[in-house]
Amino acid sequence: MLMPALAGALRCQRDSYLKVLQTKVVSCEKKKGFYAVEFEDTVLFPEGGGQPFDKGVILREKDDSETPVEVTDVQRDGLHAIHSLISPLEPGETVTMQVDWARRLDHMQQHTGQHLLSAVLDKKDVATVGWNLGVQMNYVELDRKLSTEEVQETQLDVNQAIAQALPITVDISGHDEEKGAMRVVTIGEMDRNPCCGTHLAKTSEIGSILLLHQVPNKGNSRLFFMAGNRVTDYAKSSHDRIRSVNAALSCQTDDTLSKIEQLQLRQRALLSQLKTAQQELAVQEAGKIAAILESKEVYVLYKPDYDMEYLRFVEKQLPDLQGTAILLCGQGPSGGAIIIAGKAVDKYAGLVKDTFKDAKGGGKGRWQGKVVRYNSGEVERALELNK
Ligand SMILES: [Zn+2]
Repeated sequence: MLMPALAGALRCQRDSYLKVLQTKVVSCEKKKGFYAVEFEDTVLFPEGGGQPFDKGVILREKDDSETPVEVTDVQRDGLHAIHSLISPLEPGETVTMQVDWARRLDHMQQHTGQHLLSAVLDKKDVATVGWNLGVQMNYVELDRKLSTEEVQETQLDVNQAIAQALPITVDISGHDEEKGAMRVVTIGEMDRNPCCGTHLAKTSEIGSILLLHQVPNKGNSRLFFMAGNRVTDYAKSSHDRIRSVNAALSCQTDDTLSKIEQLQLRQRALLSQLKTAQQELAVQEAGKIAAILESKEVYVLYKPDYDMEYLRFVEKQLPDLQGTAILLCGQGPSGGAIIIAGKAVDKYAGLVKDTFKDAKGGGKGRWQGKVVRYNSGEVERALELNK
């Protein structure tokens, strides 16, 4: 009977640089939507210690099609590494597994980066109480907030430790029934930490660490960071984004903030001019409505591009009307608003509710409502009252 290697002593943990491994299938169980497979050993790291699971492919020797079977997830069941596959394998068969190296290397850069960052902070008496490896950014959760100066100093210290190319080794310090082989990850003379993850061999392989910003969390402080290839990828995408902002604002990076402030001031001035102009227009429209209602029972004013605020301007300017004014704004699926004022509010409120299927509102003496959406033909039907 085949015996599987257990977490703590998996091949990926003993040699984190091994990308391909020939092994045998120990078991394959059909689950809901996937197959749960355990191998004699594995180069695919099962999620743990803050490090996400590896992805990869399985090549079958007996398969003529040579289509690799995708591994979409690897989790621990106790000490067993359980791989999720999209199609089944046969227990006992020999296979070749291959890790998605770009994904793994990224995880190693972030994880080893975290160990080094926490080690540097430890020397400053700042304790790491947790960490998270994210899709774009990671964070270490610290027992207190760092000052701007401390962040700058830490930034210099971690990158100096990277330049020193300190050796990183894993020692097995014993065996635990529940946790398996007890692994201790050592960075040069500076740090020893129990960890199940896969790590780089030298601090220089981290490349660089970029400290970003802090976010308070329940008395702790989350210091966001990224390491390895992510740093240059981020620098490039940030640079591209700044360039497109510059192009949109037609200015250089140094001038973007003052340019935005100028635009905000200009917008405020325009809004105030617009409001004055709207009020002037409202006075004229109210006068026109009052004149029409001297000889007519009802008049409908429809302003598709205006809002409720404008309708209120108009309403405020209306004198004691001889007839009834129905004021509408908005259009199509985004809806709008309705105000009814004048002599026969109740009568026309009933008519409005019959005409506009999605209108809701109420009030005494005047009627005010919202139209969730205008359905086709509704406005046209209301405007027929003007004929
Ligand atoms: Zn770790």
